[in-house]
Amino acid sequence: MFAAPTYSLPVTPPASASRYAGETLLGRKRRARKMARVLAETHPDAHCELDFTNPLELAVATVLSAQTTDVRVNQVTPELFAKYRSAAAYAAADRAEMETLLRPTGFFRAKTDSLIKLGQALLDRHDGQLPRKLDELVKLPGIGRKTANVILGNAFGVPGITVDTHFRRLTNRFGWVDEEDPVKIEFLVAELIEKRDWTMLSHRVIFHGRRVCHARKPACGACTLASMCPAYGTGPTEAAAAAKLLKGPRARELAVAAGVDPDLVPVAAVLAPEEP
Ligand code: SF4
Repeated sequence: MFAAPTYSLPVTPPASASRYAGETLLGRKRRARKMARVLAETHPDAHCELDFTNPLELAVATVLSAQTTDVRVNQVTPELFAKYRSAAAYAAADRAEMETLLRPTGFFRAKTDSLIKLGQALLDRHDGQLPRKLDELVKLPGIGRKTANVILGNAFGVPGITVDTHFRRLTNRFGWVDEEDPVKIEFLVAELIEKRDWTMLSHRVIFHGRRVCHARKPACGACTLASMCPAYGTGPTEAAAAAKLLKGPRARELAVAAGVDPDLVPVAAVLAPEEP
């Protein structure tokens, strides 16, 4: 049951992009850290949405997550993880059997190929274990920088910034970066945010992208970052219109956090699938 409304204030007045035109690096750093704190309050449930119990499982799930949703990956991994419990098992896998299991995730032939090669490389170079270093992880088949940072941050507790499509879009809208290249974005954001916060920041930004700051119509009028975001106004700023755009199980709580009446959030928004 939804708790009694605690909202009181309207969303803070718009922050115009020109307000940030002459922002210094120090000013941007302060603003970025404040936005990161607000994101932490806004998305207390942010986490890695791939199911796993050990580093190998996370590596496999992350390889499978290319071009599909985490939900879809989580549907196939229980059977996959039960059948293939080690790097050696992946290396020796029957290709046709694995393809059948992976078919629902799309690109199943290429993904099967990657997982078999990953198993072989782990056996050949790392005694069947996932290495804990970025430069070693990125040399493994199917593992790019994004995947490596997911593994480091979530399986090994080593801070990592994961630049996916949401992170790239939002950090540009936030005015933290003016850049499309994922590696450059990673380094620029690393300058702004304390290292210990990198992994959770990545989850929170991605949650904000899935639930509030959508690619096509961001819910600016129901966004907790409105007063600090140069892109405020990219989506509807009127509360009722914006509230309809919130998505996910916490859509009503998100409205409250932004000072918007949760009754403006339709039931369909709470049940709507989040952006992948
Ligand atoms: S929803 Fe609007 S105000 Fe919020 S972060 Fe996205 S662009 Fe900025």
